Amino acid sequence: MARKNEPSFRESVDMMFNRAAALMDLPPGLEEKIRVCNATYTVRFGVRLRGQIQTFVGYRSVHSEHMEPVKGGIRYAMSVNQDEVEALAALMTYKCALVEAPFGGSKGGLCIDPRQYEEHELEQITRRFAYELAKRDLINPSQNVPAPDMGTGEREMAWIADQYARMNTTDINARACVTGKPLNAGGIAGRVEATGRGVQYALREFFRDSQGVAKSGLTGKLDGKRVIVQGLGNVGYHAAKFLSEEDGALITGIIERDGALVSKDGLDVDAVRNWIAKHGGVTGYPDGTYVADGTKVLEEPCDILIPAAMEGVIHLGNAKKIKAPLIIEAANGPITSGADEVLRDKGIVIIPDMYANAGGVTVSYFEWVKNLSHIRFGRMQRRAEETRTQMLVDELERLSADKELGWTLSPGFKQNYLRGADELELVRSGLDDTMRAAYQSMASIWHERADAVDLRTAAYLVSIDRVAKSYRAKGL
Ligand code: GLU
Repeated sequence: MARKNEPSFRESVDMMFNRAAALMDLPPGLEEKIRVCNATYTVRFGVRLRGQIQTFVGYRSVHSEHMEPVKGGIRYAMSVNQDEVEALAALMTYKCALVEAPFGGSKGGLCIDPRQYEEHELEQITRRFAYELAKRDLINPSQNVPAPDMGTGEREMAWIADQYARMNTTDINARACVTGKPLNAGGIAGRVEATGRGVQYALREFFRDSQGVAKSGLTGKLDGKRVIVQGLGNVGYHAAKFLSEEDGALITGIIERDGALVSKDGLDVDAVRNWIAKHGGVTGYPDGTYVADGTKVLEEPCDILIPAAMEGVIHLGNAKKIKAPLIIEAANGPITSGADEVLRDKGIVIIPDMYANAGGVTVSYFEWVKNLSHIRFGRMQRRAEETRTQMLVDELERLSADKELGWTLSPGFKQNYLRGADELELVRSGLDDTMRAAYQSMASIWHERADAVDLRTAAYLVSIDRVAKSYRAKGL
């Protein structure tokens, strides 16, 4: 969403990149090579719907192929355009490098309002779009692997996977051509919640970093923190739900398309989500106060602001009025580069998108590996682990039966300890580990280098360095 007097989304991402690249000692020309988008393919295709041919415009942009396949979602929205997919593809490159997912960056989009179509129409459109991309290897398990993004989900990914399989009947790895599929179509447990779960893990790790917390001016832990979330889609919903149910945070504001809800006692995230599903918006929700001009709620006092909707929502027009000391970018590019500077000058700490919402692509990586290995995670080791732990439990039980020692096992210990980890637990463990490691790589630079003025600059320094190293390894 380009705003008057502000650069476009892609320019905004480039400006943030340039600020970090200027602090690095890259060989001449490499900086530009990394920054620019390698290629953007535009497709216009017709689909016969409701008795006439409708033409759709779609894109798939490949930002960097320093590692392949390239990875990134496919978005269905009316706002989709070349500038937007290129900005999002660039963010995918930096995101994958930061969380060490072995992919280059890509992104796709279809200019469509999915709510205007019936399910069977969307299937026809999606299959045709997938066909156009697949025949040019812009969907391919070893070259380009899409995933869900705004306006798409498991259903669309299943159609894409099936379309690719129909076109490549002898490809044994066909299922790895796209991630975010339903479980029964080759998906992985925990992919739907992954981005929101990643936001939760990112915040937990931030609150373990006492230096970082001190820079934000906050104190303590997540418990009792007042959170405002913008967008109760897949990402915002899961983040808000987990933070309130598991970390004791209070969701004091939820901003949606048709307005916002505020409540100082905290909103029930599932109840609001169910209300939206039934009524199409937050209007009329019985608990909390309804605010018609939802974007104003971004400026309300709170401890943590989570923009989880779309790009450019915090801009030069409202940045000065933001009161949250901590912002975590669950969406891609929610803060324009101009607003970024205003917020930094105000001392607001921003946990940047390329880290904050990397949970999605991280679990996509696990799904892709699962598809290529053709086996569910944990299938080989789960019972073996259980047998070993059983031996230990038997031994402990034998000792606790000895009255003289006076030992007893805590209630529930046996059941909890015996259970081998299933796929969901392994996925969460891998995601948590990834989010912690990536935070550490970024925060150590933030705390150690005076010129790494904020977490975003530090994140760019880490990822540009990694991308540069892989270009150098290729002899560039
Ligand atoms: N669309 C998501 C993102 O922006 C996920 C991408 C993926 O899983 O490849 O990160």
